[in-house]
Amino acid sequence: MLAIDANVTPMSSDLGRPKRVLIVEDEELIREMVELALQDEGYRVTAVDNGRDAINRLSAEAQGSDQSFDLIVLDVMLPHINGLDLCRLLRQQGNPIPILVLSAKASETDRVLGLEVGADDYLCKPFGMRELVARCRALLRRAKSDQDNPPEVVEFEGIQVYPQQCRVVVRGEEVNLAPKEFRLLELFTQSPRRVWSREQLLDQIWGFDFVGDSKTVDVHIRWLREKIEVDPSSPQYIITVRGFGYRLG
Ligand code: CA
Repeated sequence: MLAIDANVTPMSSDLGRPKRVLIVEDEELIREMVELALQDEGYRVTAVDNGRDAINRLSAEAQGSDQSFDLIVLDVMLPHINGLDLCRLLRQQGNPIPILVLSAKASETDRVLGLEVGADDYLCKPFGMRELVARCRALLRRAKSDQDNPPEVVEFEGIQVYPQQCRVVVRGEEVNLAPKEFRLLELFTQSPRRVWSREQLLDQIWGFDFVGDSKTVDVHIRWLREKIEVDPSSPQYIITVRGFGYRLG
């Protein structure tokens, strides 16, 4: 009659708590491989094979939030509710859990769509388990550093942004940015590779009550490129994603 829950961990320390990962994948072989790889990494893994069960697990865990998930590994093609819709739904609910999307679709449009609906990173099948583990580790690390708010410095490939001092160093040299340019670059470096639409950038940087059009964003992006790119006509940092908007890297 006596039941012992072997999964109970001490309530007192969050620091030593193993990271919890929710895997949502209907292909059994991939699900088991991902599960094993992440368990080997020391994560506590819960795996489900459809979107509806994922929602149930997430809402159940949110109620007892001491043990909530730290990361979701999410397949796109799923029964009941697909991964992109699930991702969009979670973000609409204000759920900030980092999401790594897995997909068999390798085209740029699908990759962009995954990031557009609020995923944090995107991995195309077939993928190696080392790559998967590395991406998960990076997302968990980024989520942790976001908690130390605001960070002293955010780095991206030769660019250092110092949010507390409103300073930017590019390839070792101090660069003077106007406030809007600084806020744009700061936002981009917080989520490298995430695609931002012009409307999202207007909302984030100019505010919802801004009266004007999205060309304002293009103009500021051009000014920003002139200050940080080696060759502004062939940008390496602020990339135009045709039909969607902009991303860093
Ligand atoms: Ca699938």
